[in-house]
Amino acid sequence: MCQERDALLKKLSDAGNSLLVHLREQTAAITSGDPDFGRFDYIIEEAKIHKCQIGHDYDEHVVHHACGCPLYRTSESLRMAAAHGQESQGMQS
Ligand SMILES: [Zn+2]
Repeated sequence: MCQERDALLKKLSDAGNSLLVHLREQTAAITSGDPDFGRFDYIIEEAKIHKCQIGHDYDEHVVHHACGCPLYRTSESLRMAAAHGQESQGMQS
C-alpha cells in the first residue's frame, strides 16, 4: 500500500462529496422555486476544477510511483502508463 496514493484518494473522495453537496444544494433551490439557483454554478464549477486537479495529481503519482492505475484514461495518461510499463501492474491492484 502507498500512503501518498491513499491520501490522494481520500482528498479525491472529499472533493467528490463536496461537489455532490453543492449539486444537491442547487437541486434543492430549483425544486423549491428559488429563482437565484444560478448562484450555485460558480461554486459547482470551482468544485469540479478542484476535483479534477486532485484527480490529475493522483494520476501523476500512480504513474510515476507505479503504485496504481490512473483514473482518467486519457490518451496522455495511457501513453505515460505504457511508457512506464505500469498498465498491467495497475490493473492487478
Ligand atoms: Zn505511490
